[in-house]
Amino acid sequence: MNQSQKTGIQKEVSLTHLNTLGLHSVAPLFMNITSETQLIELNEKGFFSEKRPFVLGGGSNILLSSRLSVPVLKMSIPGMEMIDDDGKNVQIQVGAGENWHELVSFAVQNGLGGIENLALIPGTVGAAPIQNIGAYGVELEGLFLSLKAYDLKSSSFRTFSKSECQFGYRDSIFKRELKGQMVVTSVTLRLSKKDHIIHDSYSALRYYLTQNKIQNPGIEEIYQAVINIRQSKLPNPSDIGNAGSFFKNPVIKQKQYNELKDNWEGIPGYPNGPGWVKVPAAWLIEKAGWKGLRSGNVGTYKTQALVIVNHGGATGQEVLEFSKKIQKSVSEQFGIDLIPEVNIVH
Ligand SMILES: Cc1cc2nc3c(=O)[nH]c(=O)nc-3n(C[C@H](O)[C@H](O)[C@H](O)COP(=O)(O)OP(=O)(O)OC[C@H]3O[C@@H](n4cnc5c(N)ncnc54)[C@H](O)[C@@H]3O)c2cc1C
Repeated sequence: MNQSQKTGIQKEVSLTHLNTLGLHSVAPLFMNITSETQLIELNEKGFFSEKRPFVLGGGSNILLSSRLSVPVLKMSIPGMEMIDDDGKNVQIQVGAGENWHELVSFAVQNGLGGIENLALIPGTVGAAPIQNIGAYGVELEGLFLSLKAYDLKSSSFRTFSKSECQFGYRDSIFKRELKGQMVVTSVTLRLSKKDHIIHDSYSALRYYLTQNKIQNPGIEEIYQAVINIRQSKLPNPSDIGNAGSFFKNPVIKQKQYNELKDNWEGIPGYPNGPGWVKVPAAWLIEKAGWKGLRSGNVGTYKTQALVIVNHGGATGQEVLEFSKKIQKSVSEQFGIDLIPEVNIVH
């Protein structure tokens, strides 16, 4: 038996069906991780000493090059455990490999609240803290308690509290100082059992509830409303390859926003702390003329300019070049630099 057979390491594995953009990509080495012990064993065998691996979840927020230069750890650690229940709230610890939307559905079906606005976000539980996932007025940090991660640098496990994660808008310490260093193995969340706080003020959600004459919604109504809105707006990756919003919504100075308003009537902007305004990237991309545009195998989605789609057969390089053209065009027209939300992996 050779080393690869003993450790379960596979060679030359296609990642084409493991990323929602559907990009053709090959991993030189690939390991499916189903337990924390496996990480310790791999470290003892020196697997992490040469090249730091890339940690893969559901592949819904990545842009892959056609051949990766590093090994891949596919996170599949299962499990869900109720670790505390004080009658009002529960604490639930979930394995990094669990599917995020299935967790949301499980919670709502069991009357647990706080997570319902985050329905239908693709991907795994372990990836959720990496960019502090958010949607329809709720961000992960609102229900997050802690996470456990394996530190590839010190070869030891570590627990991170909420403040240690340094969450921000689609951001955390794991996208900055600790980028690529921590392998999240489980996440602990706090969910409400009763007296749920309903978040229904996000404009698209409010509009849907009003249109459907839903008054005083509970967590099930919010969950279903979010699913219906998302299904009507966003392309399903199984129909057309995409990674959701390709860029973050830029946050600019109030002064710059005021100047832009003089030239661009109706430019939307939302207060984002004193002196700062968040501008929808989709609006900027659309006004720059990119909505529904196609170049070769790549394009923006016909009804949502912020989503870059793979019309079939696109390479990571093509998608990257297309995204750079959008960045250049938006920068020239508005003086705003768009930052990718999607992680670019080589
Ligand atoms: C149609 C669509 C809609 C989307 N809508 C939203 C939305 O509304 N809000 C939102 O916030 N996002 C959204 N996304 C983006 C995406 O779903 C989230 O970022 C999700 O959390 C990514 O999970 P994943 O498991 O697919 O991560 P991957 O794409 O596999 O990885 C993303 C990053 O996290 C790292 N990572 C993954 N797992 C781990 C782990 N266990 N430990 C350490 N690092 C890890 C990877 O190395 C990579 O850097 C959308 C994507 C799509 C395709």
